[in-house]
Amino acid sequence: MSKPTSADHAPSYYAASASPQPQRPALDAALDVDVCIIGAGYTGLSAGLHLAEAGFSVAIVEAARVGWGASGRNGGQIVNSYSRDLDVIEARYGTDTARALGDMAFEGGRIIRERIARYGIACDLKDGGVFAAITPGQFAHLRKQQALWQRYGHTQLRLLDHNDTRDVVASERYCGGLLDLSGGHLHPLNLALGEAAAFESLGGRIFEHSPAIRIERNVRPVVHTPHGTVTASFVIVAGNAYLGGLVPELAAKSMPCGTQIVATEPLGALADALLPQDYCIENCNYLLDYFRLSADRRLLFGGGVVYGARDPAHIEAIIMPKLLRVFPQLANARIDFAWTGNFLLTLSRMPQMGRIDHHVYYSQGCSGHGITFTHLAGRLLAEVLQGQAARFDAFARLPHLPFPGGQLLRVPFTALGAWYYDLRDRLGV
Ligand SMILES: Cc1cc2nc3c(=O)[nH]c(=O)nc-3n(C[C@H](O)[C@H](O)[C@H](O)COP(=O)(O)OP(=O)(O)OC[C@H]3O[C@@H](n4cnc5c(N)ncnc54)[C@H](O)[C@@H]3O)c2cc1C
Repeated sequence: MSKPTSADHAPSYYAASASPQPQRPALDAALDVDVCIIGAGYTGLSAGLHLAEAGFSVAIVEAARVGWGASGRNGGQIVNSYSRDLDVIEARYGTDTARALGDMAFEGGRIIRERIARYGIACDLKDGGVFAAITPGQFAHLRKQQALWQRYGHTQLRLLDHNDTRDVVASERYCGGLLDLSGGHLHPLNLALGEAAAFESLGGRIFEHSPAIRIERNVRPVVHTPHGTVTASFVIVAGNAYLGGLVPELAAKSMPCGTQIVATEPLGALADALLPQDYCIENCNYLLDYFRLSADRRLLFGGGVVYGARDPAHIEAIIMPKLLRVFPQLANARIDFAWTGNFLLTLSRMPQMGRIDHHVYYSQGCSGHGITFTHLAGRLLAEVLQGQAARFDAFARLPHLPFPGGQLLRVPFTALGAWYYDLRDRLGV
């Protein structure tokens, strides 16, 4: 057993505090299995674990290491529902689709908690997440969101007035909030590592440093890596923002984007003063900030979006002004870690699931809120491979639209749109 090095994972607080993990071999043989999964993030691991539990033989090929992508470097915030909420889904896709998706909107969070309990995964799980309003307009929207989620059976929400909000986050920036006790936060890399270990305990195999370089589309497709092949009845593509051009159909309708996080030094008693209930917080802006405490009492603060996913040179310069607007009392706090990661944006902000053909399936594009959805996606992928397609198809039927401007202009066009919404947030309209 060895600890990951910075060469294995992004130089994050998570890599520095990861649970011990084995070095897994690269694929150097010709395997034959029921299902081959490309990518060992939450989507791939969740699908693999559901399938292994159902008795399938499954091999996962991972280009880097388990949890190397967004799943091992995200904000760790368990956020229910989707990146576009149920009112938008109702308006865009109709009540039947909204009902089908609404029934599943809180399932991902339940799956995560089941996994943690069943497999004894140590990943610092804490219950409770707050959506924090900066403007009265955002607070009015939270009130509507509470009523909306209640209509879909989610009754654990509590509206927080200005004073209540001040009790959960020691900042003058917020006028109110909405507390979701079935939200919460965790150590994301340790969740991925725990799920990988659970998958392997059921006979699943993971090959690291084994990028899929070609999929031979066939009745029994063959996934090629530099030194091996996996022939399978089904292939699941779960490479998300790091997939590149392996499946051109998927690259054309999504856009990798970067977001950055910093971790302060351990803050001791000051940490408890900043976030006395240890809830995680995200604000309601279009380009939102998100923050929480780690188990060793650091503040982990993330925000901003880099469209097109260039790695920014000065992460602290991007994040610190945002952090200090919320907590000016941290002006002298040391920053111990700063890292970036890529998520996959879709034009509709809804996740994309579907079939490339009868044997190749995919799920991607949670557009920033992916911890819960990826866990649901794994269950739906396992269901469809067992012949139960209804819930998978409720997502697969959603239209997957290309970004305006095509590959060349989609980044400036999307950045322009975001600039407009960001300006509205700044002006409070
Ligand atoms: C900085 C950051 C903060 C975030 N914060 C939050 C948050 O607080 N809450 C939330 O809900 N969501 C958050 N997200 C989004 C969330 O992390 C993602 O939606 C989710 O982890 C995506 O999981 P995934 O398995 O689909 O992709 P990933 O975790 O990115 O995994 C894809 C894997 O596929 C591998 N891969 C790619 N191509 C190949 C190939 N050809 N062959 C083999 N392997 C391949 C990659 O190496 C990678 O390991 C955040 C994202 C980022 C980047």
